[in-house]
This record gives sequence, C-alpha cells and structure tokens, in this order.
Amino acid sequence: MSKITVIVPCYNEESTLHFFYEEMQRVAAQMAENTFEYLFVDDGSKDGTMQVIRELRAKDERVTYVSFSRNFGKEAAIYAGLTHASGDYVAIMDADLQDPPALLPEMYRAVAQEGYDSAATRRVTRKGEPPIRSFFARRFYALMNRISDVELMDGARDYRLMNRQYVNALLDMQEYNRFSKGLFGWVGFRIKWIEFENVERVAGETKWSFWKLFKYSLDGIVAFSSTPLYISSILGASMCGVGGAAILFIVIRQLLFGGSAYGWPSMVCIMILIGGLQLLCLGILGLYLSKAYLEVKRRPIYIAREAQTEKTPEQAAR
Ligand code: UDP
Ligand code: MG
Repeated sequence: MSKITVIVPCYNEESTLHFFYEEMQRVAAQMAENTFEYLFVDDGSKDGTMQVIRELRAKDERVTYVSFSRNFGKEAAIYAGLTHASGDYVAIMDADLQDPPALLPEMYRAVAQEGYDSAATRRVTRKGEPPIRSFFARRFYALMNRISDVELMDGARDYRLMNRQYVNALLDMQEYNRFSKGLFGWVGFRIKWIEFENVERVAGETKWSFWKLFKYSLDGIVAFSSTPLYISSILGASMCGVGGAAILFIVIRQLLFGGSAYGWPSMVCIMILIGGLQLLCLGILGLYLSKAYLEVKRRPIYIAREAQTEKTPEQAAR
C-alpha cells in the first residue's frame, strides 16, 4: 500500500475547489489500495479559497494545506507542494479540472508497475483556447527546443505523477527562478507521456493574461538557454567586421580619389541601426544579469503564513 500526495496550486479558486474535491474523491475511490493526501497550496488568494480549504480539512483528514503570505506564482506553489508532500508518489494537478484526475490510475500504473519514474501528460489539442494564444505557444515550444538543451514537449502540462527519487531530484534544484517545464526535462529519468484532449475550466477564469505568458516564456528562455547571449556576441562581432571593412574602404577611396563628403544619410541610418543593436544586446545581457541578481540574493521561494501538513516545517525544509 502506498501513499499518493496530490499537490493542488490554488489562486482564487473558491468556485472550482468543490468540483475538484468531488472528482478527486471519485478517483480516489477507484484506487482504494492507495492512501491519499490532498495538499492544497493557497497562493495568496484574495477570495474565499482558504475558507473552502478549511471546510474540506474539517471533514476530511486527508486534506492538508500551505497558505502563502501573498501571491508568489504557480511555480512557487509547486515548489512548496513538493517540499511538504509526504507521499511515496507525488502528483501535481490544477484545481480547475483541466488536468483530469481520471488519468491518475493510468499514471500510477506507469510509475508503480511499468518501471517509469514519472508519468507526464500533454494536451494534443488546444481547443477552446484563443487561436492567437495557441499560435504563440507553439512558436515558443519550437524555439525553445532549438535554442535549449532541455527537451520541451509541445502541449506538456505541469500535471504529472512522480516517484520519490524524481521529487528529490527536483528539490535538489534550489534555483529561485523556477521554470518547472524545463526542470522536469532537465532532471531526466524515464518518463511516460500520456496524451489527452484539452478540457475547459469547470468554473472561474484563467489567471494567465497574454502579457503574463509572454514574460513566462522569456523566463523560460533565460533559465534554460544561453543562445540569446551567443547571438548578441556574434552580432556584435560581425558588425565590427563590417565597420572595419567600411573604414578601410573610405580611407583608401579618400587617398585615391579625395572628396568623400557625400553619403551622410546612409551614415545616419547605420548609426541608428548600430545604436539599436547595442541597446538590444545590452537588454539581453541585462535580462540574464537581473535573473542572476535575484539568484544570488537567495531569497526564499515562498513564505507561508500558515501550514497544516503532515511534515513539520523542519522536515519540509530538510
Ligand atoms: N495558479 C497559482 N498561482 C498563480 C496563478 C495560477 O497557483 O499565480 C494556479 C491556479 O489556481 C490553477 C493553476 O495554477 O490551479 C493553473 O492556472 P490557470 O487555470 O489559471 O491557468 P491555465 O489553465 O489557463 O493555463
Ligand atoms: Mg486552467
């Protein structure tokens, strides 16, 4: 008999948590040979999420929770869940039922019996999502796979079931800028991919605006690829080459033919272009520097205001 911890990051999910709990109960009943822990991570919700979690806790001992002092983001919530999870197996699941709990038995079989270390899920369709969002998501995955060493599966969700070894490997990565989709791939191990059709939210609405997703994708690139830095160095070097050749050309022309005062508009264009390139490269450099700056400060990834879990804070801190 083994124990499964289900981590549920929640940010303003008061309208979905009851649906989630009902569905989870149904699946848990199918897997009666296992014990469960439902670990809700309240990511600084401003609505009644915490009340709902407390109600669930009052009627069900398997419900545990960590509540943040403010909104730290889903990545921090996942990390907090991983540190507090007490199960032999750990799953991460969204509260909105977009990660169907019904897949859990199949995922458990893959890890407990078929010898995989983690069962991961990916959406094969993105129906119900704005087309523009799907388009940029696809471009992002294609780009990431070209410029980074970690493999990112298109449509991969954070929904997965992992064994202890895999969880500990994730926890060993103490970085502050956590891009889980990259971390999952980076740690390696044997992964089984399970595919499913996109499901729409049961209630409430998405917390991800286009701008938030854009910033998230930049974070992913900075965390898992140095290619933009190489590109800016190469751009700089080739501009130097072009500039050197142009100087040589002008000097020789002056010596041979004299009078080269014409051509200043093209000069201005080139100056603007080079100025722009310099700013762009500085910006790229700055992005990496800012991430490194946050990294060296070693701030905690989250701050809990309250926790009711099976691990003591000392155990969770390891
Ligand atoms: N979430 C979170 N912190 C945040 C934003 C989201 O914990 O700052 C949780 C949210 O409660 C949900 C999951 O992350 O359980 C996925 O969020 P959402 O459904 O809004 O994203 P989408 O499915 O639209 O990508
Ligand atoms: Mg969702």
